[in-house]
Amino acid sequence: MLIILNNLESHYEIEQLTRMYTKDLSVVHGTKEENLAADTAQWLYVSKNEQIDIQLCCCGKSLQDSIAADENEEKMYLDICAVLYGMYTDAFDKKMAWGMLTGVRPVRLMRNLYAKHGDADAVCSLFKDRYFVSDEKIKLCRDIFSLQKDIIDGCSPKDYSLYISIPFCPTRCSYCSFVSVGSTGASKLMGEYVDKLCEEIRYTAQTAHKAGLNLKTIYIGGGTPTAVSAQQLRKIMQTVKDNFDLSKVLEYTVEAGRPDCTTKEKLQVIKDLGADRVSINPQTFSDDVLRAIGRRHSHQDFIDCYNMAREIGFKTINTDLIAGLPLDTVEGFENSLKGCIALGAENITVHTLTLKRASNIVVNRENNDYSDVAQMLEKCSMLADNGYIPYYMYRQKSTLQSLENVGYSQIGHESLYNIYIMEEIQTIISCGAGGVTKVVGPKGELKRIYNYKYPTEYIRDFDTILHRKDEVINVCQQFGFLNDW
Ligand code: SF4
Repeated sequence: MLIILNNLESHYEIEQLTRMYTKDLSVVHGTKEENLAADTAQWLYVSKNEQIDIQLCCCGKSLQDSIAADENEEKMYLDICAVLYGMYTDAFDKKMAWGMLTGVRPVRLMRNLYAKHGDADAVCSLFKDRYFVSDEKIKLCRDIFSLQKDIIDGCSPKDYSLYISIPFCPTRCSYCSFVSVGSTGASKLMGEYVDKLCEEIRYTAQTAHKAGLNLKTIYIGGGTPTAVSAQQLRKIMQTVKDNFDLSKVLEYTVEAGRPDCTTKEKLQVIKDLGADRVSINPQTFSDDVLRAIGRRHSHQDFIDCYNMAREIGFKTINTDLIAGLPLDTVEGFENSLKGCIALGAENITVHTLTLKRASNIVVNRENNDYSDVAQMLEKCSMLADNGYIPYYMYRQKSTLQSLENVGYSQIGHESLYNIYIMEEIQTIISCGAGGVTKVVGPKGELKRIYNYKYPTEYIRDFDTILHRKDEVINVCQQFGFLNDW
């Protein structure tokens, strides 16, 4: 699809909306005459003069409409997208469950609109009439919004969470574009990485202390943190224990996602050093699907690993599933859901497959049929029947049918960290390669401070990383909440 914009500066909203219908697109600026070749089969022309003219030619249809040009830019782009969404649904004969809503955080949008209008019913009407969101997704969003309200209202600007990144994995899953380094070729790197990471953790504790921040949750993620040895994991977690006051921490999670590198010894280390929540991820209960996505474990390996964690006595175990994996079916996905429910996992997180550009699925141009992913997600109604509530949600670009990822929880086991990070309502200080520190101010201001992405860069330029941590104090000062409590 060729998108031609005339007298319009921004193309972000128009491009994102178009991407929901076609991935193959390019954007140019100028008039139709200047840009349209005789053989351009699919094109969109949006031109702003006294009014805005929109013309769409695709799927054998030719559609056009005009709207008044609003002085308020935000409203103008919303108006354009509303017309465009109508045209796309007509041309492609397909409505999206989230309507024209392209953002990553629909619950935050609902909360912002609620802050403005003060009436949840009015906000739901806006979702329906302004963004064309389906009733089912509005309900999902509203349920999560209501559940999160007290948790979010209870946050103080001086609270923060600590994220620690261990970017290694036993092998790379075919759908993953994560910056994770396969552990087989990285064992030498791991020792040095762990040493640097421990140094950064110690420095971070001092920085947070100087800024007068109060630690609320800890999350050790990756990659797969259990890809390092039990000894290395102990070293990292002991450093955390020695440098932070864990007695006031409300939740401490370690991702132990891959059963092919998570041993009883590592799980015991995790428990002994203070974590109360682990994530052990089957992704699917089908061995054929596991093979197809390059995971080196069977579903029985997952169950054995889960049972070990249960015996060790974690308060909360999360299990991740993915809807839409290659070779999976609606029945297969339903079976996976039933499996997690039968195990009694306190958290079940249901992701929708995202086709990321750097993943093997996309790079290798695998030819899969993903058409039944929405039917898979419909099966999540069985979670409500079994006492699970949705508690956080996010969307990603390039997710199948622009659908969502939702965390479900037994009541009282909702992960605070997941809510904090997805809703961006609390400062998260990150350590390790790929970590992004986000300092959140009292009025919702947000400043990101980046660590280097790859472990090799992280080790090589470690002094710069430590130096950047000092920025946390400067930003807290800028946001006006340093030493004034
Ligand atoms: S375990 Fe997770 S981070 Fe590692 S390769 Fe698989 S999807 Fe990516």
